[in-house]
Amino acid sequence: MKRDIKDLLNPALRNIAVYKVDGGQEAAVKLNQNESPFDLPFWMKEQILEEFRLEPWNRYPDILPFRGMDAYADFLGVSRDSVIMSNGSNEMLYTIFLACLSPGKKILIPEPSFSLYEKIALLLQADIVSVPMLSSLEFDADSLIGRAKQEKVDFIVLSTPNNPTGKSLSGQDIARIVRECDAIVLVDEAYIEFSRECSALALIEECPNLIVLRTMSKALALAGMRIGFAIANPLLMAEIAKPKIPFASSRFAEITLQHVLRYYYLVTDAVSYILGERERIYAELEGITSLDVFQSDTNFLIIRVPDAQKVFHALVSSGILVRNVSGYLLMENCLRFNIGLREENDQLLEKLKSL
Ligand code: PMP
Repeated sequence: MKRDIKDLLNPALRNIAVYKVDGGQEAAVKLNQNESPFDLPFWMKEQILEEFRLEPWNRYPDILPFRGMDAYADFLGVSRDSVIMSNGSNEMLYTIFLACLSPGKKILIPEPSFSLYEKIALLLQADIVSVPMLSSLEFDADSLIGRAKQEKVDFIVLSTPNNPTGKSLSGQDIARIVRECDAIVLVDEAYIEFSRECSALALIEECPNLIVLRTMSKALALAGMRIGFAIANPLLMAEIAKPKIPFASSRFAEITLQHVLRYYYLVTDAVSYILGERERIYAELEGITSLDVFQSDTNFLIIRVPDAQKVFHALVSSGILVRNVSGYLLMENCLRFNIGLREENDQLLEKLKSL
């Protein structure tokens, strides 16, 4: 008698589910994945394709994408051996977690936070210490530090600004956590370009236990290209490189990144537009008495409505796709939507007002 297939697999699979995006990935007004509404201009795509044509497609790219890494290190003004590029920051999260966690290691995760953190930690059979946000959805820095010390955690992961709450830790609080806690601290800055707070990058030289994670999927509008980065002290970076999947980034991603960094003013313009729209939509939503809107440091806003499921479906039936985040701790009846083009935002506002 053979064993059940599930008994042959990693037992941690029983505790995790396949990643999915509720409501699918298609809609007339698509505001559910925190993407940029601005695709690259056609002329830039042409330049990138022209360069890509000359590459040898039959040859492996570099084991690590050094061209992309050097370009980003120079852009940030950090040393080249303190940067690693990945196939989206999700891939880097797996790499960093593999380097930091094993059965019995302790990870501290603020709750609610980006769902992938818990999933990878469960997969690696680490012990999770979760620390709730305040009911205002703000971080509780004192309790994060207190629990980290009390539980002697090995690894702390902070999404700041945080998905799905939109709130940031202050620069001072990040510095306190990194300096005071005897743990590796991963600061996921997926939304940093939209934040009122400054980046943790300035602490890299001083703090050998700090890793900063960046994605090119949000402000840089390259979600389809799959580009992420980790930045840390070179000694720590050399360890993180050990479990990294070899050849994970394509030549195409490297070339695209080089072009986008060369024309960074386009990113800056897009971010200004999104910030302007974020403030406009926030002010309009504040005027609607039947919902609450939360201040955000990201390219998305959170609203609390009387019945999130009902509003979600009403929006879907008008071709507007947002994310129902009601399942997260403290986020009952909350919806999340990213800032789109002005006309898309107007459609959303109109529909919300009519509801
Ligand atoms: N971190 C956070 C906080 C995110 O919200 C996301 C995207 N939803 C990611 C990482 C992953 O981004 P990507 O893999 O596209 O770089």
